[in-house]
Amino acid sequence: MALDNETFVLMKDSVTRFVRERLVPAEDLVEETDDVPEEIIQEMRELGLFGLSIPEEYGGLGLSMTQECEIIHEICKAALAFRSVIGTTVGIGSQGLVMTGTEEQKQQYLPRLATGEIISSFCLTEPDAGSDAASLRTVAIKDGDFYVLNGTKRYITNALRAGMLTVMARTDPGKKGASGISAFLVDPSTPGITIAKADEKMGQRGTKTSDVIFEDARIPASALLGGQEGQGFYTAMKVLDRGRLHLSSVSTGISERILEEGLNYAAERKQFGTPIGEFQLVQALLADSQAELYAAKSMTLDAAAKYDREEEIPMLAACCKMFTTEAAGRIADRAVQIHGGAGYMSEYKVERFYRDVRLLRLYEGTTQIQQLVIARNMLKTVAN
Ligand SMILES: Cc1cc2nc3c(=O)[nH]c(=O)nc-3n(C[C@H](O)[C@H](O)[C@H](O)COP(=O)(O)OP(=O)(O)OC[C@H]3O[C@@H](n4cnc5c(N)ncnc54)[C@H](O)[C@@H]3O)c2cc1C
Repeated sequence: MALDNETFVLMKDSVTRFVRERLVPAEDLVEETDDVPEEIIQEMRELGLFGLSIPEEYGGLGLSMTQECEIIHEICKAALAFRSVIGTTVGIGSQGLVMTGTEEQKQQYLPRLATGEIISSFCLTEPDAGSDAASLRTVAIKDGDFYVLNGTKRYITNALRAGMLTVMARTDPGKKGASGISAFLVDPSTPGITIAKADEKMGQRGTKTSDVIFEDARIPASALLGGQEGQGFYTAMKVLDRGRLHLSSVSTGISERILEEGLNYAAERKQFGTPIGEFQLVQALLADSQAELYAAKSMTLDAAAKYDREEEIPMLAACCKMFTTEAAGRIADRAVQIHGGAGYMSEYKVERFYRDVRLLRLYEGTTQIQQLVIARNMLKTVAN
């Protein structure tokens, strides 16, 4: 799946313009109101941004992974809250359905997800199951033509905005670990489902996470993703492999923006009668960030191209997620340093971006979990 090159180039140009003309000027409003204005969300719908990864036959743009990474990189040159509005629908919230849904399930949800009429969320994490997601405790017990859901999901991005939740729950409580887990496509307005108030966070104002609580929520048996029990965890892991490339582009996009802020400041700010960018120690901060950004972009596009050629990418996706998110942290830190005291002041955006990028190393698998994935995959190649 991919958009033809000519159409893609036109689309990318419109996104670049949209970011420059609409998103960047709205960043302060998002910060003040802790929300993304509805008119901007509507413009995102009109640009087709909710349907980037949804196949064309269901009304999406059907981009390849490489194309998706390029578009996400562009969008993330503005505050990350804008990407977050489309992020779960383009990525983790919908891709389980794209990969393993039945035709009926796809018809039911994908066209509405593609237009942004509804937003989807991915509900895996729980209060006691984070990195060890396979230990999740939410249950879905079969009762005739229904499953009855009980449990709590934590830090669920866009749950407050969602019209569809992809929920991982244990259909076989007797089975510990991954094989007892199934995935469900759930309507959040079902009685027995409560979406809690938005969490207060360190940064990324305008993004919304919350608990999702299931108390005897009865959902139709037809909501079982792919119609098969016991596949939910494996689907979630495939979705997260792909999601790691998406998040790597989030990291490269915002890193590029942050570096640009640092570069502009280095060119403008004068000390000792000369722009600080003339000082070689400041040049080192710029050069290290530029080299890391180049490496981060190159590896992400390389892994995305391999994904498009259907090569095995779990280890490479983990390498990308680890390197690009850690690099974003270092690039943001250097940008604050280049700004001196101004870098600590809210008036300058690097202070905000410094807090915003801290999240990238935590969700969809912490850096430590990426290290485990990388090393385990390496060891497999030498195991007898
Ligand atoms: C803003 C935000 C949005 C999120 N959105 C979603 C969402 O939409 N859907 C969803 O399902 N989840 C979401 N999450 C949850 C996120 O994916 C988890 O927070 C993350 O996977 C880490 O789990 P945890 O918070 O329970 O940390 P823990 O697993 O408790 O980890 C704590 C620390 O221990 C380390 N650690 C744990 N196990 C090991 C190990 N085996 N070896 C070495 N170190 C280890 C971790 O690296 C970390 O440093 C979101 C989180 C945040 C903060």
